[in-house]
Order: sequence, then structure tokens, then C-alpha cells
Amino acid sequence: MRIVLSDFGLDSIKVIVRKKNKKKVTLIPTPNNFLIIETPNPKNIEEYIVNNINKIKDIFEKYDNHYFNVRNNIKKDLILLKGNYVPFFTEKSSSNRSYLKNGRLIIKYNGKKKLESLLKDFLRKIARKEFLDIVEEESKRLSISVGSVKIKDARSRWGSCSSKGNINLSFRLIMAPEYVYRYVIIHELSHIKFPNHSENFWNYLKDVYPDYEKGRLWLKENGAYLYTL
Ligand SMILES: [Zn+2]
Repeated sequence: MRIVLSDFGLDSIKVIVRKKNKKKVTLIPTPNNFLIIETPNPKNIEEYIVNNINKIKDIFEKYDNHYFNVRNNIKKDLILLKGNYVPFFTEKSSSNRSYLKNGRLIIKYNGKKKLESLLKDFLRKIARKEFLDIVEEESKRLSISVGSVKIKDARSRWGSCSSKGNINLSFRLIMAPEYVYRYVIIHELSHIKFPNHSENFWNYLKDVYPDYEKGRLWLKENGAYLYTL
């Protein structure tokens, strides 16, 4: 179902309606200006929107101004790295190169690539080094032998682990605080011992990484914002 919100000054927001067997209507904003509306009564959705337009506006305003909204901060020349914003500067150059200097990110670029993809390249580079270091450290500590480690951009998951012990990690995690990506790495390492989400798996994870719940919660609350880049 398509609903045009331009009459309400919300022309950039697209609505997705899902029928759910529950009493209340739930509004879920997502990156790229989608609003998912879960409702027991999709037929009355237009009426619902008209009656709740201020609530919808508030949600998107809050969403837009959220601390971890990466896209908005790029407009202010700030990039999220390990849970904090780092200012970046761009300089014209014959080749593309990015590096940190005195707490600032310098981006040299030849003008052919978009700023967004230069920032992603930089984050990938930092993520690769940081995540490989932690995998090595934690696999030693836990005596778990790991196959390959790849840095990816999977849309639906932060990390995954194959039966051969090969681990994939999303580069986007490097924008989160350290305890968050350490949680994901230890989570995936634990899957080499327990290839499921059984009680044994969670008990083991809790045992080897008491902060796991904090990391999990951070991703639940803020993870979607890391997809605004
Ligand atoms: Zn898992």
C-alpha cells in the first residue's frame, strides 16, 4: 500500500504497512526514511496516519537528531569511529588516501570517488586491522582456532560464522564503541564451540564476556543508525 505523506510536509518518508495480530499500532522508523507501521487493522491506516501525524513527525525528528545518526553528522564533517565523532578534512590530491592525524581524519582525494565511499573505505581499513587484532587476542585467550576472517557489509547481520570456523564481520561495527564489536567477535568465536543459540552457548558467552548483554543492547538500540552511511 502506498500512502503519500507530502500533504503533511513529510514527503521524503515512505510508509510500509504490516498486518500484525496485536492490539497496539507500532511505528518503526528505519534508515533512509522508511516508516514501518505494524497494525492489526491495515484498512484504517490512512485514518490512523491522519490522526497521528504529529506523533510521526516527532519520531522522525528525534530519529534525525539522534547522536548516532551517521549521515547527519557527515554533513557536519564528522565521522563516527569507535563510538565517538572524529572531524574530517578533505584535500584535493592526485590519488585517494585517508589517515588519522592528531585526532582528525585527513581525506586526500582525486575527485572521482564520492565522499561517502571514501569514508566507507577508511572505515573498512580501520575495521580490518582492529577486528583482526581482537580475533587474534580473543581466540588465544579462549583457545579457539579460527579459519579466515573477512570484513563485509552484510545487510542483515553484524557477524556470521561458518561450520569451518570462518568468520565474517560487518565493517559498520567499527563505528560502535569497542565493547560492542568485541561482543560480536566473541559471539562469533563462541559459535565455533556451539554452532547454535542454545542455553549452553549463552552461558558460555556470559562466562567468557560478562559485558555481552551491554554490547547486545547497544546494537539493538543504535544499530540501525550505522546503516545511515
Ligand atoms: Zn549467533
